[in-house]
Amino acid sequence: MTHCIVVGGGVAGLAAALRLSSDERYRVTLFESAPALGGRVRSFVDRDSGTESDNGQHVLMGACTAALDYLGEIGTASSLARLRGMSLPFVHIDGRRSLLQAGALPHPLSLVVAFLRYDMLSFRARMRILRAAIRLRRLSGSGLDALDDLTAEAWLRNLGQGSAEMLAFWQPLVLATMNSTPSQASARLFAALLREIFLGARDAADMLLPDAALSGIFIEPAVSELQRRGVIVRSGTTVTALACPEEGSGRRVTAVIAGDERLATDAVILAMPPWALRRLRLIDASGKQTDRPLPDVLLPGIDLAAFIPSEILSVHVWLRRSAGTSPMTGLLGTTLQWVFFKGKTAEGQYHYSCTVSGAEGHETTHRDALRRLVLRELALLAPGLVDGDIIRILPIREKRATFVPAPGIERMRPQARTGVRGLYLAGDWTATGLPATIEGAVRSANSAVEAVGNHK
Ligand SMILES: Cc1cc2nc3c(=O)[nH]c(=O)nc-3n(C[C@H](O)[C@H](O)[C@H](O)COP(=O)(O)OP(=O)(O)OC[C@H]3O[C@@H](n4cnc5c(N)ncnc54)[C@H](O)[C@@H]3O)c2cc1C
Repeated sequence: MTHCIVVGGGVAGLAAALRLSSDERYRVTLFESAPALGGRVRSFVDRDSGTESDNGQHVLMGACTAALDYLGEIGTASSLARLRGMSLPFVHIDGRRSLLQAGALPHPLSLVVAFLRYDMLSFRARMRILRAAIRLRRLSGSGLDALDDLTAEAWLRNLGQGSAEMLAFWQPLVLATMNSTPSQASARLFAALLREIFLGARDAADMLLPDAALSGIFIEPAVSELQRRGVIVRSGTTVTALACPEEGSGRRVTAVIAGDERLATDAVILAMPPWALRRLRLIDASGKQTDRPLPDVLLPGIDLAAFIPSEILSVHVWLRRSAGTSPMTGLLGTTLQWVFFKGKTAEGQYHYSCTVSGAEGHETTHRDALRRLVLRELALLAPGLVDGDIIRILPIREKRATFVPAPGIERMRPQARTGVRGLYLAGDWTATGLPATIEGAVRSANSAVEAVGNHK
């Protein structure tokens, strides 16, 4: 039996371990350095309110087929509420409201109708968006490659998009899907994503919202299933070093140091972000951990410093009165970009989760300033909202929510297979063709497990 060690208990590591454990050729051990599994997908019990809250709102799309298969395997695919055919209310800072809603017509005509009805923009602006969509449809594989060094903003301007549609349509879309502004994000990645969402299968543009805490949907059932299959899952245990001695024509992984233990292994999947990978060290011939950063020696072609983290600020807000019950509302021209209604608590409080993607540089660190901002911007949804209506605000800053999907980054994202026998990479930052997402994390796990099977 081949012993495989998975390093990292985020979605990528859990998905890799699940896939390996469904094959009787493998014995699997998973290590996670944090006390709890889940990585960037986690929930916690908020001490003051006693409610289970997420580290940040996560949204999946119908196009996320690998992620849905993962949830199917752990039995929680039905825990995502599906907003069919896009149905999104938007509120502008000046008070205007509009609904982006696909009609009952066949796909993709239903989406065309949705844009034509989106009266947040002038008719001419909507026509410019539709013309850009037609150009996107005609884009070939080489056309996508040619976008590699362009920003999404430059590409959209080349497609004739003006300031109004940038503000009220493209910018929210780029921020929500890429966690970066149009002036930072890669045009290639954005175009590839748009094609998957809008030009894919009929339900690809459906939005899927978790209807319970993230850990209960994505993490805990996966851990239970792994344990049921005999996988050893060790949280609170950091893998610090790998032994990869020269063997014949190259190096091969033979052991890892996890906590204070040394474990022999045949294969290792490193399912960790680039910034964590930099901390790994090599074990020398005498079995001692060296100071040599593992990536410098074993992953020489990968420029880990190119993966710059990007922040998401999530603000949980509990109100005495309702600010609407739409599952998801877009705000335009504001600091808060999306407001998700999380439900009414047993005590009758209205719980909202507000998100700010690409949050670097937003001056929202001071609690009082944040409270004023939340009050001002939620009042767009609940006119007359006063400070006394706010029961509690809980901000969560994820400084390393994703990497910035900058132009040129696609050329730097590594494949699962490395130059070392038995060593594989997974995680949302590897070559998935997607921005940092749950779908990318699961796809990366599938590629890594496939590479384990093919690599002798
Ligand atoms: C606030 C927020 C909102 C988001 N919104 C969305 C969304 O709407 N839709 C979407 O698809 N995606 C979203 N994402 C992104 C998504 O969460 C990530 O892309 C995905 O979870 C990454 O999974 P991963 O397994 O690749 O990495 P991670 O989740 O980072 O997992 C890596 C794990 O490795 C562990 N680790 C690191 N080093 C070691 C070591 N030496 N030994 C052992 N363990 C180690 C870490 O502790 C971590 O648990 C969001 C992220 C955040 C933070």
